Amino acid sequence: MNDTMEKITSQELIALEDKYGAHNYHPLEVVLERGEGVHVWDVDGKKYYDFLSAYSAVNQGHCHPKIIGAMIEQTKKLTLTSRAFYNDVLGPYEKFVTQYFGFDKVLPMNTGAEAVETAIKLCRKWAYEVKGISEDSAQIIVCENNFHGRTTTIVSFSNDAIAQKNFGPFTPGFIRIPYNDTEALAKALKDNDNVAGFLVEPIQGEAGVYVPDEGYLVKAKELCAANGTLFIADEVQTGIARTGSLLAVCGDCNCTNSCQKDPTSYVEPDILILGKAISGGAYPVSAVLANNEIMNVIKPGQHGSTFGGNPVAAKVAMAALEVVTDERLAENAFRLGNIFRTEMQRIIDSTDLVLKVRGKGLLNAIIVNDTEESETAWNLCEALKENGLLAKPTHGNIIRFAPPLVMTEAQLMECVAIIEKTIKEFKK
Ligand SMILES: *Cc1c(COP(=O)(O)O)cnc(C)c1O
Repeated sequence: MNDTMEKITSQELIALEDKYGAHNYHPLEVVLERGEGVHVWDVDGKKYYDFLSAYSAVNQGHCHPKIIGAMIEQTKKLTLTSRAFYNDVLGPYEKFVTQYFGFDKVLPMNTGAEAVETAIKLCRKWAYEVKGISEDSAQIIVCENNFHGRTTTIVSFSNDAIAQKNFGPFTPGFIRIPYNDTEALAKALKDNDNVAGFLVEPIQGEAGVYVPDEGYLVKAKELCAANGTLFIADEVQTGIARTGSLLAVCGDCNCTNSCQKDPTSYVEPDILILGKAISGGAYPVSAVLANNEIMNVIKPGQHGSTFGGNPVAAKVAMAALEVVTDERLAENAFRLGNIFRTEMQRIIDSTDLVLKVRGKGLLNAIIVNDTEESETAWNLCEALKENGLLAKPTHGNIIRFAPPLVMTEAQLMECVAIIEKTIKEFKK
């Protein structure tokens, strides 16, 4: 670029997206061009704290040198073979990732939604070929207010009117029950003969960071196990140290490396779904993990993806998971999360604008004191942006706070000060 060339402004860049891009998102009016660690910069050079982390994909911080280094090195050597041939990175990655999470096998995909689709297909096939459910009659139990992605099948079992409207006809085979309700689960398991799996988010992220009661997941897993039903954990958002342990199903075992599986709180999923931060936000990588008795039902030709398990993805994911261990991100998320909620509660006690803070580790949300239809949370995010912190409402009056996990305590306290100042100065 030469210096006399006029720089394209953020308003012009927004106009381009508006004119040439489908309107499937409603972004906050900020145009970013650079990121490093916990910070991002807009096209005018203004610096922000990123308090969304691309929906918890950038847990390791923006452009982590180790992850980017691994990616650059591999892209110069070999990027894609497809699975028609073997490559020299996939096997080592599969060994690494299965040992890291404690499963026999992995099925590599690219996006979270694809991994959820994969888990559904795997669960159904297992149901017919191992559990012995008669063909085409398997049911999967899901929860109200779930978010598992955007494919036709996944939106089929959503109860979000906007996600569903005019996208039918929908895929059958799903039973929806209330979240955080083990009685409803017990009843659904009892009333239906053909239940193959229970698909659940250990904490509902998109719904507004709903943390279930203590013991919910342990009890849900027990009910599934007693019924011969697969417990399928969608940890696309909650996994990879976000909630203060390697996985949210690790409960309070506070594992900082690989999960140490404290039996009092660890809930072992039969199928584990990962995405987002498994690549540190550098590349689309997702994974479905299960043990042999389940994963072995998938045979050649029955499922796949051209890019799934490509050498770049494999190298990036290994680097990203090593960063989680080396930098003790679970421990940091656990510690800073406690500080953050304490500080938010202190602020809430002195304002009418915010009702509540909830969350686990560094996956948190505040509930703004207004209706779901109000603009208050959106306007508060605009004001936070002006003060140098980027966050976005999830549902109407709920604002999710999910910074990169590489944040220091000093940086967190700076962010708390920004949030406090913004709330104090905010006029509806
Ligand atoms: C983001 C998300 C997905 C979908 O991931 P994509 O990569 O956007 O397809 C699935 N499940 C949960 C819990 C998520 O948060």
